[in-house]
Amino acid sequence: MTTAAADYQGRDRACPSGVCHEGGSIIGVMTEQGRLAYLPTPVVLDTAFASRLQDAGEPERRYRFSQPCIESACSQWTGEGCGVIDHVLDDPPGSECAHHHGLTRPGVLPSCAIRRDCRWFSQRGPAACRVCPTIVADTGGSAT
Ligand code: SF4
Repeated sequence: MTTAAADYQGRDRACPSGVCHEGGSIIGVMTEQGRLAYLPTPVVLDTAFASRLQDAGEPERRYRFSQPCIESACSQWTGEGCGVIDHVLDDPPGSECAHHHGLTRPGVLPSCAIRRDCRWFSQRGPAACRVCPTIVADTGGSAT
């Protein structure tokens, strides 16, 4: 745990890879290059907008949604944290390893609007942000 990440302990957390539904927010758009383009300000979903995205199919693959982290009510919760970011960082398939592919430069983190509240950042610090742009959810909360 880094000092920066530790500073954010004890807060309500935001899931950075949630599902598309009313009340959630879009925090990024997946590009054709397979990297997330972060929005400077999250876009809150109302019922109509969420329905349009759902009707278009697989919104979690095309956008990244944020919502309050529900901890033990989520299937990805390990009992101590989010299993998604732990899995990506601790057991990365070779093709998804950010370090080996130079996906991020050391010390340069994505410009992200939810860092202060982000579950992944609070748990793993800047390392989470370095792999974050390459993580795609399927039906929300599952790393691929
Ligand atoms: S891991 Fe980092 S870049 Fe990704 S959503 Fe959280 S704070 Fe933003």
